[in-house]
Amino acid sequence: MPKKAKGKHGLLVVISGPSGVGKSTVVKKLLSSNPKLKLSISATTRPPRPNETHNKDYQFVTEEEFFDREKKGMFLEWAQVHGYYYGTSKSFIEDQLLKNNIVVSEVDVQGAASIKEAVSLGHVKTSAVFIFLIPPSVDILAFRLRRRKTENEEVVNYRLRAAIAELQVMEKYDYIVVNDKVDTASEKIKAIINVEKERVLLN
Ligand code: 5GP
Repeated sequence: MPKKAKGKHGLLVVISGPSGVGKSTVVKKLLSSNPKLKLSISATTRPPRPNETHNKDYQFVTEEEFFDREKKGMFLEWAQVHGYYYGTSKSFIEDQLLKNNIVVSEVDVQGAASIKEAVSLGHVKTSAVFIFLIPPSVDILAFRLRRRKTENEEVVNYRLRAAIAELQVMEKYDYIVVNDKVDTASEKIKAIINVEKERVLLN
């Protein structure tokens, strides 16, 4: 009989997508559907937005603290995104995977590529699935970014250009999910997770 991933635990679900695509809303909906799903809380040097809480949305840290953690090897991956630093905590992911939980990690395309490499090199012992969330159209993305009113027009335009560049790499992901409606997108991701949990690994 084929073996399940030997020595590997849980599942790491990596979700990327352009800024303003609605990743956080979809991820929140997803997490509320199953207590086994745990959000990987990244560290960032970006200042908190009004609706964000320390240790819930991110660990908001100074650059000094960020690079101290980086030197100590505490990040599974880290990257500079839109002028700030973001890093994924290695120990958080390992602890959750050992508990057989499913970790949901929301990272940019650089972070997803680094995680893919770390998993393939065995730096983190897990199965991983890579999902790219896309907007129904670039116009809708622009509308959503402006509606958010957390960034000024210059930043919105910069993020739109970055989004268009990010869309070029989506074929490197395992699944592409269109975020037309939050409920539908979250249901699709749930279905992907259910299938991936059953995947039989041949090595
Ligand atoms: P925001 O500042 O809008 O919360 O996030 C900006 C971008 O950084 C998003 O694409 C988000 O997915 C990404 N991001 C959040 N946390 C991490 C992380 O730990 N590593 C990487 N590489 N990207 C992250």
